[in-house]
Amino acid sequence: MNINAVVRSVQAALGVSVDGNPGPETWRAIHEKIVGKPVPKSAAFAGKADERSEKTIATLHPQVAPYARMLVERAAAANIEIKILSGTRTYAEQDALFAIGRTKEMNRRPVTNAKGGESNHNFGIAFDVGVFRGKDYLGDSPLYATVGAIGMDIGLEWGGQWESFVDMPHYQLRPDWSQGMSEREMLRELRARKASGKDAYAA
Ligand SMILES: [Zn+2]
Repeated sequence: MNINAVVRSVQAALGVSVDGNPGPETWRAIHEKIVGKPVPKSAAFAGKADERSEKTIATLHPQVAPYARMLVERAAAANIEIKILSGTRTYAEQDALFAIGRTKEMNRRPVTNAKGGESNHNFGIAFDVGVFRGKDYLGDSPLYATVGAIGMDIGLEWGGQWESFVDMPHYQLRPDWSQGMSEREMLRELRARKASGKDAYAA
């Protein structure tokens, strides 16, 4: 899948400047193009997600959990079934993941570039989704971009927009204090907060 080509074709159809760098307007149009109806704009979601998602959501910071549920609900409203597959990992779990393809399970490719304390997943602020069709997990689907549009619409940061490492299934809720900070600076502050017991989202 070449998301950049999709973005450019939608931008051309919209008559906005074709730079492959989508703003909210482009993302809405991509969503409409793929799903066939507009991005839902309202409604907080108070209910529960599916069992597997809820298991993951239980590991997230309480401030992030409603966003994860809302993303599941909004995607379902757009006829896209997603589950929250990955949430918070301890530093030790992150280190074990980092070792894959490097010092263990050498037949696999590395699955992350982050060691313990270097991933947003270590602080409860991030989660990954999977798109499903019935029982089938779709690892690679244009629907990830549609879900990305919905995620950004509800205020999440989407890994599909990252330039250095595009991470289509990844979402995170940026703390207000991190505005204008690089990812590296934000992680440094998150580590310090975790060490001192200060809440990730406290002002
Ligand atoms: Zn992730």
